Amino acid sequence: GERVLTNINSLADEYLRLSFHGMRAKNSDFQAHFETHFDPNLPKVNVIPQNIGRVLLNIINNAFQAIDNTDTGKKNPDFKPIVKVATRDLGDKIEIIIEDNGPGIPEEIKDKIFQPFFTTKPTGEGTGLGLSLSYDIIKAHGGDLEVESKLNEGSVFKITLTK
Ligand code: ADP
Ligand code: MG
Repeated sequence: GERVLTNINSLADEYLRLSFHGMRAKNSDFQAHFETHFDPNLPKVNVIPQNIGRVLLNIINNAFQAIDNTDTGKKNPDFKPIVKVATRDLGDKIEIIIEDNGPGIPEEIKDKIFQPFFTTKPTGEGTGLGLSLSYDIIKAHGGDLEVESKLNEGSVFKITLTK
């Protein structure tokens, strides 16, 4: 792939919908919601769109899987599982934020999730390659990929890309 000036809002919106409809197709009981908070003045950035798209799909799929599997939803009828995707202009770079209110990531595995083949999903459901591949793609773009998570509150993945 080659780098092209890309509208990240459109790309994120496209992959969010792809992920959401994929989840619904697999599970007719799927209850999740999503919200977008796109910066309307976000500048285009020079990226390989297929690769950044793959990153977005990986992270958004993880987010939907996290809220779909959380048993909080089954125990508490007031729980509203939601994935939020946002973009922000940080001046010299842009940021893409993917947030879920799922179970969060336990401290003891937080530094392992970016390693190839690390997965907590049942065999056949997770390869453990999504985040490691995503990390490599973002680093190859000169950007950064970070996670913040609180147990029982959710996870926030932040991608930064330089302008
Ligand atoms: P896979 O999805 O195939 O398991 P990934 O590399 O995408 O592989 O993710 C690795 C692991 O990181 C997951 O198995 C899960 O334990 C954890 N993880 C990733 N995203 C989330 C999330 N949004 N909430 C909770 N755990 C997550
Ligand atoms: Mg994954």
